[in-house]
Amino acid sequence: MSISPYSPQTTCSILLDALIYRTRKQTIENDTDTLRRLGTSSGEIDDKLAKLMDAAAAAYRGGANPNPIVGSVEVMKHSFRDQTPVRCIYCDFKMPQPRIVTFRNIATGEEITLHEMSFHLLWLHHYFGTPQTAHRTDPAKLFRVLST
Ligand SMILES: [Zn+2]
Repeated sequence: MSISPYSPQTTCSILLDALIYRTRKQTIENDTDTLRRLGTSSGEIDDKLAKLMDAAAAAYRGGANPNPIVGSVEVMKHSFRDQTPVRCIYCDFKMPQPRIVTFRNIATGEEITLHEMSFHLLWLHHYFGTPQTAHRTDPAKLFRVLST
């Protein structure tokens, strides 16, 4: 048996980091393939989402409709008092009062809900999130909902 120069805690932390990195890499490859099959890319979806949020924010400032419709997408913003602060595992950024936004395609009725951390992962880390976690965004579903 070899003797590790690291403490058990450090070794465990290194192994966990390696597992997180490998999972993230595989997920990005799978998501890239999915989006390529749909004829789009994560960059294109990021841009579409950013433009949609800008338009929705402009409509909010107008104050006429709390759930503005931009193109064929209704944007519904929710605030929950019991939302617990979340911290990004990639950059340690902390969201004290994370918000949630639901997008509904009015033509198809399909909806998708994104947590503020989901936006952070998409825009800052170009990542749709780890499968089976709370902040995962299904890229194919997001693409469908945002499609006109
Ligand atoms: Zn981050």
